Amino acid sequence: MLTRLKDALDHIAAAIIKQRDLLDRLDSIGDSDHGTNMARGFTAAVEALDALEDLSTKTVFTVVGTAFSENIGGASGPLYATGFLRVAALCDDNTAFNVKNVEKLLGAAIDGIKKRGHSDAGEKTLLDVLIPVYECFTPEKAGDKTLYKCIEAAVKAAKDGLDYTKTIPATKGRASYIGERSVGHEDPGAMSSLIMVRELFNFLKY
Ligand code: ADP
Ligand code: MG
Repeated sequence: MLTRLKDALDHIAAAIIKQRDLLDRLDSIGDSDHGTNMARGFTAAVEALDALEDLSTKTVFTVVGTAFSENIGGASGPLYATGFLRVAALCDDNTAFNVKNVEKLLGAAIDGIKKRGHSDAGEKTLLDVLIPVYECFTPEKAGDKTLYKCIEAAVKAAKDGLDYTKTIPATKGRASYIGERSVGHEDPGAMSSLIMVRELFNFLKY
């Protein structure tokens, strides 16, 4: 399970790095560096993970969060870092990935990102993907579905969230400088969040 967590992160990191140019291009509504930022964060995270002997869940999330906070200049660095570190804070050696725990961990990550970013749903940010993803793990939506089925539903919710960011103006981050002119464009951070969820699903699927 623990090497599997590292393998999952390696898979997600590779996918983000591969999509660097797409993410930079989407960030033309900001300063065109979101892909570069995310690739830098994940490259540092993978390097740090490769050097680790202790692959406990808490350590893995702490190392990823720290790599993001230390290696990304942009807004997304500290925001994703906060999310990963919030998850780390709730994990211990016995943390099992089940629907209930994922709901708790994702809820904490989102809470941290909202506080750090002074932001919420509907502002054309990564939260417009992460919040609907979180909802897939709540008892109301998850019902008695397996974790795998919830993650599958989360990919669909993430895609819908990304589509939604196209319809609204940015009110947070650099894209807010162009305000209404950002309507019609997907948010780059929403896209990086979608890629992470989608690639987690793809990792589990194959
Ligand atoms: P920067 O905007 O500093 O260049 P990035 O380009 O790496 O940083 O990241 C931009 C993304 O960060 C946006 O697309 C958005 O999803 C997210 N973002 C920016 N500010 C906030 C905020 N206050 N709250 C939540 N997400 C934000
Ligand atoms: Mg940017």
